[in-house]
Amino acid sequence: MDFNIPEYPGLQFGSIYCIGRNYAKHIEEMKSEVTEDPVVFLKPRSSIIFDGGTVRIPKQSNNVHHEVELVLLIGSITRNVEPGNAAHSIKAISAGIDITARDLQSDAKKNGLPWTLSKGFDSFAPLGNFVNYTPDIHLGDLDISVKVNGATRQAGNTSHMLFSCERIISYLSKQFTLYPGDLIFTGTPEGVSPILPGDTVQASLQNNISTLTIHVE
Ligand code: MG
Repeated sequence: MDFNIPEYPGLQFGSIYCIGRNYAKHIEEMKSEVTEDPVVFLKPRSSIIFDGGTVRIPKQSNNVHHEVELVLLIGSITRNVEPGNAAHSIKAISAGIDITARDLQSDAKKNGLPWTLSKGFDSFAPLGNFVNYTPDIHLGDLDISVKVNGATRQAGNTSHMLFSCERIISYLSKQFTLYPGDLIFTGTPEGVSPILPGDTVQASLQNNISTLTIHVE
């Protein structure tokens, strides 16, 4: 694949930052703990696919889950920004799915190892269309949902985030320099569940401003 962002000629995808444990009810269903700072992990950009793409279940896993998430696309070099100024760094938003090999993640957690293998397979970062970010978009009040074969599995709202988008960007920018083209998956609400070969998975952000349909093989 090339790494060009379809909506923004000349801009390429960069790092993919992901936030874990950002919705209380998802933390409950995972029997995890609330943390003082955001939990951060990465996916390789080779895991990106788009609307109409296919998620391939890797032979290493028998339990692959959907995690629907609001995704932020960074538009400017961002370092050490405070939450009050962080939204200026957002170029666009989209619906995305943090596909997760739950069995591999559980093994990694049990053994105190990184989550990379469970999160980073090819096709494990499906993205919907990007919507230009403007200040009239309320990042703290966006519906995100996902259906599998037409049945709703997750229906959340970003108002339930433990760390707001602005706090996430601020926190990340104090650890790393963020660059145009970087993505941030902001965490998933409750309702994660398995996907199987033959399934059709549809994600939606806020009245379908960004949508995504993928097939599972
Ligand atoms: Mg996630």
